[in-house]
Amino acid sequence: MFRDRLECLCTIIIFVCSIFIWSVSLFMIVTGRPEQLLYRSFDSVKYRGAQIYWEEGYPLPDEKLEIFYIVVDSLTDDVHVKYSIAENRMRVYYLAKEETFGSLEGTEGATAFYRRATNAFGKGAADNIFLSKTLIESDNNSFAMALVHEYLHMIQHSVPGYIEEYALDVGWLQEGETFYHPVEDPDFFMVLTDYSLTSPFEDMSDTFMFSYLCVIELESLSEARNQHIDNFWSIPREEYCRNFH
Ligand SMILES: [Zn+2]
Repeated sequence: MFRDRLECLCTIIIFVCSIFIWSVSLFMIVTGRPEQLLYRSFDSVKYRGAQIYWEEGYPLPDEKLEIFYIVVDSLTDDVHVKYSIAENRMRVYYLAKEETFGSLEGTEGATAFYRRATNAFGKGAADNIFLSKTLIESDNNSFAMALVHEYLHMIQHSVPGYIEEYALDVGWLQEGETFYHPVEDPDFFMVLTDYSLTSPFEDMSDTFMFSYLCVIELESLSEARNQHIDNFWSIPREEYCRNFH
């Protein structure tokens, strides 16, 4: 009798443990929370289609949180629906501690970055934007532009064919899945930063983020890039652009 009970108890314990392990795995797959961050405590604020997390006790300063809300409004209301936050949930982690931000793969030299899943965070992670303390301490214009820049990386992965279309329109050459830049094409080199020439992804992110600031002149950008900016935002630039101080 006792043995039977013991066996029964063992079965129940094994069953409960299995359920727990499966639940944790499922949680990681469903939430897409980066593996290294799973057991840390986060606070978060949800605003429209966006959610921003920070490590407990290390919140985003109010001034930057206000800018975050403004950028989310812009990317929800002022861009075409398929590129908007309404269609593409935005999840942002502010990692104030250098050891946390620096522990993620690919952060060397970066103050903010976007990663989708498997290559950087292990199992089940989804779209995430990470912000460092250095970025939070930068000026408000830089902070707003970084959010737009990283959001565009997210869109490049979530809207099929978007980056390929942009790349070919602005003059990148394609061989298989690789893009490289032409040797002679004056229009192609009409960019605002050298960093834009590192890849079509950075080309689009850097080009579009500058369009968000009213003070930036876009005349030196190629016509194809200006056209793509116009196709992303749903209202004229004088209505969507912002100035931060
Ligand atoms: Zn980038």
